[in-house]
Amino acid sequence: MSSFDVLLVGGGASAIFTLLQFTQAMPCWRIGWVRAQAGVGVAYATASVRHLLNVPAARMGAYADAVDDFDRWLRSNPELSGSAEVFVPRGLYGRYLAQMRERALSTGQITVLEGEVLCCHRPASADWRLELTDGRRLDGARVVLAPGLPSLGSDWPTHTALVADAWSWWLRLPADWQPPSAEETITLVGSGLTAMDMVVGLRERGFEGHIRVLSRSGQWSCAHDDTAPLDAAVQAQLIAGLIVRPTARDYVRVLRRASAQYPWRAVIDALRPHSQTLWQALPLNERRRVLRHGFESWNRLRHRAPPSTARAIAEDPKLSIARARVTSRLAEQLAESSALVLNCGGPVLSRGGRWPRVFETLLADGHVRINELATGLQSLLPAELALLGAVRFGELIECTAVPELRQHAADLARRWRDT
Ligand SMILES: Cc1cc2nc3c(=O)[nH]c(=O)nc-3n(C[C@H](O)[C@H](O)[C@H](O)COP(=O)(O)OP(=O)(O)OC[C@H]3O[C@@H](n4cnc5c(N)ncnc54)[C@H](O)[C@@H]3O)c2cc1C
Repeated sequence: MSSFDVLLVGGGASAIFTLLQFTQAMPCWRIGWVRAQAGVGVAYATASVRHLLNVPAARMGAYADAVDDFDRWLRSNPELSGSAEVFVPRGLYGRYLAQMRERALSTGQITVLEGEVLCCHRPASADWRLELTDGRRLDGARVVLAPGLPSLGSDWPTHTALVADAWSWWLRLPADWQPPSAEETITLVGSGLTAMDMVVGLRERGFEGHIRVLSRSGQWSCAHDDTAPLDAAVQAQLIAGLIVRPTARDYVRVLRRASAQYPWRAVIDALRPHSQTLWQALPLNERRRVLRHGFESWNRLRHRAPPSTARAIAEDPKLSIARARVTSRLAEQLAESSALVLNCGGPVLSRGGRWPRVFETLLADGHVRINELATGLQSLLPAELALLGAVRFGELIECTAVPELRQHAADLARRWRDT
């Protein structure tokens, strides 16, 4: 007999949303939860008050059917009342997630194991088995894997000034870190939200020198503003206009035309509830085309920076940005002329064929497959093995931000409760 009704792997937002949904939907289930680290994941571990959520607080609730839950939590905490802003520090969201985790744990349904899962497989003697690096084993009837992404930059050359993963570096900085002198340069590779966070973070930590930013686009991520959403009729017309001709080129043409008539942010935001339908409507070769030619621009427009971050960037007098394709060789050269070179590139799941280690046996046993775009993984036994989070990229076009993660956890709980 299985020890647990479900085994859950991962310690970030996806796992916490899953715990909330499963304890609510299946109050009799026993859940075995394995997480490699305490805390609530890299995204919300920063202590800097200048590292802000890039989604308004009013949409960051942990429950798909109560999206304002986080905003209400903020307002109900008198000590946090000064933080009732639209874009609040990510550390506050980390505190909220920790409280949500405690809420799920208080049901008494969950057994927590601290440790890293080395492999997941289905032996003849049990439904599913997790094997941990320290030799412990756990059996269960179903498994949810939410391991996030492996850290960046395994392909970066080794050099004392080269930092392969900016976030891992930032989170390990000691409180008494002395920044390089004002005569020195720090180079950032990448110009998305991570690079923007590094700029404001480095200034907060007292770095007064030049920050040089190099990226393929040579452009910052766009900023949020208070544009009103499109009205429902215009939105419906826009989606109908897109779905009628599902090719990359036609999507761009329709979006350009709409953006000439309405604010572009409202046009992009109108796609969000339909993004998966629009993505799936594209034939495979068209999806490839979007990833190859349009994805970087899409990311810049879709994953927007909080206005105060964008303002700080625009007003920084010792900041430069340029286009460059940073190869290992160039990174080494940059390291010679910089106090530090921080890799702020976005995650590329399949870089060098590296999938999170926990999937290796599942891939070999044919329970999981690499998706058609080779950008993520898919479960071949969805009734008993579920994947959550960024590892699903490609099958899903949106699978990294809280609004989607909480919805995916809710959908999974409903599906498994009803079968
Ligand atoms: C810097 C940053 C800022 C972000 N800001 C926002 C934002 O403002 N709004 C928003 O909506 N989204 C934001 N995101 C997106 C973010 O990815 C999600 O919100 C969310 O945090 C992802 O959670 P996750 O649980 O899927 O992955 P992760 O947070 O990466 O968690 C994965 C967890 O699994 C554990 N794990 C991995 N492998 C194993 C194993 N083998 N055994 C046991 N445990 C394992 C890891 O230790 C980790 O704790 C941000 C992301 C980053 C990186």
